[in-house]
Amino acid sequence: MSFTRRKFLAVALAAGAAPLFAQEPPALLPAAKGRRVVVVGGGWGGLSAARHLRALAPELEVVLLERNSAFFSMPLSNKWLAGLVDEKLLTHDTRAAAQAHGYTFIQAEVTALDRERRRVHTAQGTVDYDWLVLAVGIRHDYAAWFGDDRRAIDEARARFACAWTPGGEFRALQARLDNFKGGDLVMTIPPPPYRCQLAPYERALVIAHLFKSRAVPGRLTLLDPNPPPQRFADVFEEQYKGQIQVVPHARVKSVDPFAKTIATEFDDIRFDEAILMPPQQAGDLAWQAGLIGRDKDGKPTGWAAQDPLHLHALGDERVFLVGDLIDRASPLFGHYPKSGHLAAHLGRIAAQEIAARARGVAPEALLPESRCFVTTRMEPQESMRVDTQYRVRGDGLIVQTTKQNFDPNPRGEDVEWAKGMFGELFG
Ligand SMILES: Cc1cc2nc3c(=O)[nH]c(=O)nc-3n(C[C@H](O)[C@H](O)[C@H](O)COP(=O)(O)OP(=O)(O)OC[C@H]3O[C@@H](n4cnc5c(N)ncnc54)[C@H](O)[C@@H]3O)c2cc1C
Repeated sequence: MSFTRRKFLAVALAAGAAPLFAQEPPALLPAAKGRRVVVVGGGWGGLSAARHLRALAPELEVVLLERNSAFFSMPLSNKWLAGLVDEKLLTHDTRAAAQAHGYTFIQAEVTALDRERRRVHTAQGTVDYDWLVLAVGIRHDYAAWFGDDRRAIDEARARFACAWTPGGEFRALQARLDNFKGGDLVMTIPPPPYRCQLAPYERALVIAHLFKSRAVPGRLTLLDPNPPPQRFADVFEEQYKGQIQVVPHARVKSVDPFAKTIATEFDDIRFDEAILMPPQQAGDLAWQAGLIGRDKDGKPTGWAAQDPLHLHALGDERVFLVGDLIDRASPLFGHYPKSGHLAAHLGRIAAQEIAARARGVAPEALLPESRCFVTTRMEPQESMRVDTQYRVRGDGLIVQTTKQNFDPNPRGEDVEWAKGMFGELFG
């Protein structure tokens, strides 16, 4: 149900609220008959949590709050930019998912969390919860480059957005690439951890392939704080010598989006077009709600601190943290891969945790897994599958095992994987 103002007033009045005159913001929904779980964020993690909560705990009311009306998959979006997959495969209606699985979807921007009152604030009103699943993904830390220079941040976001979060930036990037007639395109890769570690290289491959196949006299410069993975470095060298230039160990010091220049520790680089990817952090709401972890010196880690085995926020067992926003899972390997597959697993684990708590039983500690497909060569196509699994060691720490498989002759396994995931999330 899309919440128009009239519907919202009707619901709020039915709930006995007096939205026009009261000091308190109005309730968006009538008081829950039983207990209610509110899921904030309808991406991979949130959709999975909502769907599994309905299946595992049908006695709980489940409400999903998401700012966008439709879901757009970032997995396979690089192939979509290259024209290799249909947009229909990637776009799904969140309302239809809610209907299929039997939860309530409200399209709304969540503006604040009040953990003391267990209340979520949106521009239209509030929703109270018994348990909250926070799955708002990441934000871009433009302040690392621009401080509080709002004009520069707005310019970078409006003209050189990196399309790394769901929303309109993907279509804008596609249009920018279509309109690019030649010159220097620069892409900055953020310092780790960031969402989908191999995806920037896959995107570089796609862009170089577009330059070559469209005969665009363009050159893509990758400013990379790390050296690129070997397989990509080899293919860049073999197939796109004139199209891709990699600058390894390049840390961005400052960016001028008006003059179109980037300063690194070694060089000043001028660009005609850019994909500017600042450092990444947990999404805004995790900061607003005071959920960000601290390092040993007391500085914010940038990510939401969770109990690694039960996924609740540290110090708040009513709030579960799911997806890319979470902090390190283990001192042995740091962060889980920030992948859609893993976020969906975390959503299911959070649902199991909440279902157990609602029944008054001790939740079992469960661990996620990740699977990622990445294109490592466009012509002829070659891909790589990265599988990551976890177990708990005798001393209680989580151990990671990663396997990489090259496939010199892929036959659409990535599309089949995506269809399986969409089937689970959307019904
Ligand atoms: C180019 C690219 C390629 C990728 N390829 C793969 C791949 O092949 N395989 C893979 O597994 N992963 C891949 N990923 C990573 C994957 O997309 C992410 O790991 C996944 O989206 C994380 O899920 P999430 O639920 O944490 O966050 P998201 O999917 O970003 O969902 C967060 C949701 O919260 C909403 N939200 C945020 N704030 C608010 C608010 N205040 N109010 C209301 N709603 C809000 C957002 O609109 C969004 O819908 C790729 C990512 C990119 C960018």
